[in-house]
Amino acid sequence: MYEKCVALARNLWWSWHAEVINLFRDLDPIRWRQLDHNPIALLSEFTPERLEMRASELVLYSRINQAYRRLKEYVSEVPAWGRTHSGVLGSKPVAYFSLEFGVHESVPVYSGGLGVLSGDHIKSASGLGVPLVAIGLFYDQGYFKQHLDINGWQREEYLDTKVENLPMEPALGTDGKPITVRIDTRTGKLLAKVWRMRVGRVNLYLLDCDVLSNSPEDRELTARLYGGDNRTRIRQELVAGVGGIRALRALGITPGVYHLNEGHSAFATLEAVRMRMKDDGMSFDAGLREVAQHTVFTTHTPVPAGHDRFDRNLIEEHLGPLRDELGISTEQLMGIGRVEPQNEHETFCMTVLGLKLSRRANAVSNLHGHVTRRMWAHLWPWRVEEEIPIGHITNGVHIQSWLAWQMQQLYDRYFPAGWMGRMGEPDVWQTIYEIDPGELWETHYALKNLLLAFARRRISRQCRRRGESDEAVESARNILDPNILTIGFARRFATYKRAAMIMSDMDRLAALVNDPQRPIQMIFAGKAHPADEPGKQLIQRIANLRHDPRFAGRIAFVEDYDINVCRHLIEGVDVWLNNPRRPLEASGTSGQKAVLNGALNLSILDGWWAEAYNGSNGFAIGKGRQHVDERLTDSRDAAELYRVLSEEVIPLYYDRDIDGLPRHWIRRMMNSISSLAWRFSADRMVADYVRHAYLPAAGGLSCEMSVR
Ligand SMILES: *Cc1c(COP(=O)(O)O)cnc(C)c1O
Repeated sequence: MYEKCVALARNLWWSWHAEVINLFRDLDPIRWRQLDHNPIALLSEFTPERLEMRASELVLYSRINQAYRRLKEYVSEVPAWGRTHSGVLGSKPVAYFSLEFGVHESVPVYSGGLGVLSGDHIKSASGLGVPLVAIGLFYDQGYFKQHLDINGWQREEYLDTKVENLPMEPALGTDGKPITVRIDTRTGKLLAKVWRMRVGRVNLYLLDCDVLSNSPEDRELTARLYGGDNRTRIRQELVAGVGGIRALRALGITPGVYHLNEGHSAFATLEAVRMRMKDDGMSFDAGLREVAQHTVFTTHTPVPAGHDRFDRNLIEEHLGPLRDELGISTEQLMGIGRVEPQNEHETFCMTVLGLKLSRRANAVSNLHGHVTRRMWAHLWPWRVEEEIPIGHITNGVHIQSWLAWQMQQLYDRYFPAGWMGRMGEPDVWQTIYEIDPGELWETHYALKNLLLAFARRRISRQCRRRGESDEAVESARNILDPNILTIGFARRFATYKRAAMIMSDMDRLAALVNDPQRPIQMIFAGKAHPADEPGKQLIQRIANLRHDPRFAGRIAFVEDYDINVCRHLIEGVDVWLNNPRRPLEASGTSGQKAVLNGALNLSILDGWWAEAYNGSNGFAIGKGRQHVDERLTDSRDAAELYRVLSEEVIPLYYDRDIDGLPRHWIRRMMNSISSLAWRFSADRMVADYVRHAYLPAAGGLSCEMSVR
């Protein structure tokens, strides 16, 4: 039994299978929670004998055996979809590059949206049977843990992850030995070892600079995600891109497609060109064309500051030796990373490199496509906007990972048999209208109570940790009320996300919160970047509302937003609020997770919501207009937010029939689920990438992705 449990724990497949999660939890529910839901850490506290005893006490044998059998079957079969749709990729898989992967909260190598998207992408690729390997970095301190001090000020803490508690092992090369890649720079060599993590059928390879032969400083290079200065950044990107390609070579993998997510890993293209030149005797120009043919580039950021730029010295120090082998001058190399190759004042932009070295580029929502084409139009000055070769594939979420277990059981009872294998089909989701409205509401209400219990537990623990009085700790156990309309807001505290919008008129907010018949309550969560003072001030303002009698017990801030906190929130809230400054939200995915569990989105028409909202599947703030004047935009959007809340959201929620059911609200929940769940699923997204990007790129076809 012990070996079978270990085998289950060592493939992250378990993380999207409720029956396996429940099994681990049952072994020791308290430790399970304390250990961040990490099964390897949990099992390490058991001897095989004690596990045997516990399994027989709880009659777990057949559940363990069944889960183990399912995993074995899963990894050994190729699903029908993959067999019929991604044939030519078979021997030449997609190499999916990202600098963060959010697969599960117990594997902290992600910070936010991009990481979770990458995690969801590889889970769906696994499920569909798309031949794909993933490449990223291993950060042994990951991203920071967030705590608020007694004044509500964000403190960052970096913890060392115990490698032995993660489901990874050294990746072995074709010679059977652990792989180390080497990258020469003008100032010395950089080494990285390579870990392998299994995510269902997909192998995730993570490069790690913590090796003995590196200098003490370089051993720390991959310690933290988004830590350090520009020099740390370029060195990390060198390891991920150039090192990533070398790791694949050592593994004996010849990719048919390189899929670069953000410019972060775009150095990979230059190394791929070098290999073509060396292996096939191509010229630099021919190698460049050849690599571009096989490269897919996805940009996720409409904010100019979000694109990495490096100066000439940093580029020459780190790319110099590679440049020598490519046989090009510093000026030529700099030119590839510039919009205007001859412009000496321009720095080297990783996104420009990615766009130039890929024949297929895409944004991550329809609106983001327009914004991106306009943003990079000067790369193609002779073309009109519609002819800029950047298309879009809208993001989606991995349904099995984000659908609450209780909700899944409800769907199981009504949906056609085997529906989990057909989640990308619209018809399947039409069945939602056959569910008894009372039952759907009851399931939602149960999940909402679980969220409130989670929030109370977390917040009373936060109070204790800060050294607050026993009274304060105790009263945190009684905050929030399941019968009140509950709004969730959780995301990075970046300025454009405008977390304080609902607080722009405090009297108005107080009136909404304290309405005697139809009150609202809110749960906030989110981290501010360690250097972002205004973001931290915003968090402080929200966190300290609990000292204001008008908001005490009704507005809560849950610390340390991560996949686990996100899961609780999107499973239990009534309304998911998103009010970014349009058009700066490239896509957003948290609202898509909320859809699956019946929460209604209340959002600015930005990112995915601009194409998802149909008038009856949630709520829109504003009409999608933009103004040049930011302050004007902000004040109009705030006014519209208050209007929609008080005229549409709140009345609909509290409009009850004689059974106490909000019939019209439940109808809207059903509209939301049926119209959005399949469309904004990662299965649909990955299928789109296969059809519109991977297959043409693997075949070396030169057609461009359609813009529409
Ligand atoms: C889904 C998710 C995100 C992305 O959410 P947005 O909608 O882009 O704000 C960020 N962080 C975590 C932990 C998530 O699970």
